[in-house]
Amino acid sequence: MSETVTIAAIATAPGRGGVGVIRLSGQNLMPLAQKITGGKTPKPRMALYSDFLSEDGQALDNGLLLYFAAPASFTGEDVIELQGHGGPVVMQMLLARCLELGARLAEPGEFTKRAFLNNKLDLAQAESVADLIDASSQSAARMALRSLKGAFSNHIHALVDDVITLRMLVEATLDFPEEDIDFLEAADAKGKLRKIREQLDGVLAQAQQGAILREGMQVVLVGAPNVGKSSLLNALAGDDVAIVTDIAGTTRDTVREMITVDGVPMHIIDTAGLRDTDDVVEKIGIERSHKAVQEADVALILIDPREGVNARTQEIVASLPENLPCLEIHNKSDLMGSEVLQTQQYIARANDVMTISAKKGAGLQALKQALLQQVGWQGEAEGLFLARSRHLHALEQAKQELAFAADCGEMIDLFAEHLRLAQISLNDITGEFTADDLLGVIFSRFCIGK
Ligand code: GDP
Ligand code: ZN
Repeated sequence: MSETVTIAAIATAPGRGGVGVIRLSGQNLMPLAQKITGGKTPKPRMALYSDFLSEDGQALDNGLLLYFAAPASFTGEDVIELQGHGGPVVMQMLLARCLELGARLAEPGEFTKRAFLNNKLDLAQAESVADLIDASSQSAARMALRSLKGAFSNHIHALVDDVITLRMLVEATLDFPEEDIDFLEAADAKGKLRKIREQLDGVLAQAQQGAILREGMQVVLVGAPNVGKSSLLNALAGDDVAIVTDIAGTTRDTVREMITVDGVPMHIIDTAGLRDTDDVVEKIGIERSHKAVQEADVALILIDPREGVNARTQEIVASLPENLPCLEIHNKSDLMGSEVLQTQQYIARANDVMTISAKKGAGLQALKQALLQQVGWQGEAEGLFLARSRHLHALEQAKQELAFAADCGEMIDLFAEHLRLAQISLNDITGEFTADDLLGVIFSRFCIGK
């Protein structure tokens, strides 16, 4: 453990609350504990009820002091928690007192970063601390907690162990070029590689599910003016956010709402019609819409089936990214006679056709389920864990390297090299050899006090 300064932060959310917590981490916090309590000596892991004193011995607050002695603490250093009264003024006074006693303000995620640097958590676990705090649904929170407890990391460690074992086998033969092929065949190197690849495919599939839950999905509503995009957005969100009018082109901005379906966060984005215009305000909206469409996971193409698909709609459909999954949505079912309800498919690239009424709320449940299906969500299953797109990229990279390794035939040094690269990608997930700048990016997105 390297020399570090003491850090302090208000760990509870801003505002008023029954209790507020100041958290400190550093190398030797007993003197600080004694100064702030007027000479008391806290026992590790025992609550100490005390006044918290200013420099000249005045009580700033009273409450509980918790002391965790290194290394048995969250960060692996000495940790102190001051549980005082949860008002902003009290918290600020206590924090200022800690700074006076030599601490400096913690950066976002700095406590967790220290936990990582002191091997209390690996990187995937550290990330899941932030994911748990940021979880937008109960499922996401449950899965983040599983990651925090090591569900994901354990899979990765098992894979890395197997890759290392195989590497040792392969590299051992590099010194004996005469016998290497026979040796590897006898040791069933290819069979071992196949097993690793199967395992990795399993972990990747689980991680993809976990990433859907963490990142949520982006759904864009596209279609000609007046087909009911804003109305559908409102119906899905359950209250009015966009301005609904009868005048074509009145949705001037991208309007978004987040809803949760089966625990999966869905960002629903109403587009500004995606058409060429000279109106400056409208132009900004349209640019944002194009960006939203580029980043979308699914597009809902709304049409009014009484009008079918007009040139506007065709133009919009043509502008959608080629591999963006689309659903064809026939809106305003309440206005249609039974003959029109026989859903004819107008748009060839659509994966499905559905009939809804945004106004009456008809067909929305089926629509939500269809959206989950489009991203391959299989429902929360036992053993799932939360994952980030960073993890998916690393797994995909490792998968690629292992595929290269399988194709190396008798070129054993190449085989060994691809195994090495696969291991590096896997190690990136748990952060074994991760560069400092990546760590900076990851931890800076935490909240302060974590
Ligand atoms: P947008 O331009 O695509 O955003 O369309 P809007 O949501 O602004 O809707 C245009 C008009 O169609 C409004 O008058 C809505 O009330 C109406 N509308 C939207 N959905 C339905 C529906 O399901 N049934 C009926 N009867 N009217 C609808
Ligand atoms: Zn609109």
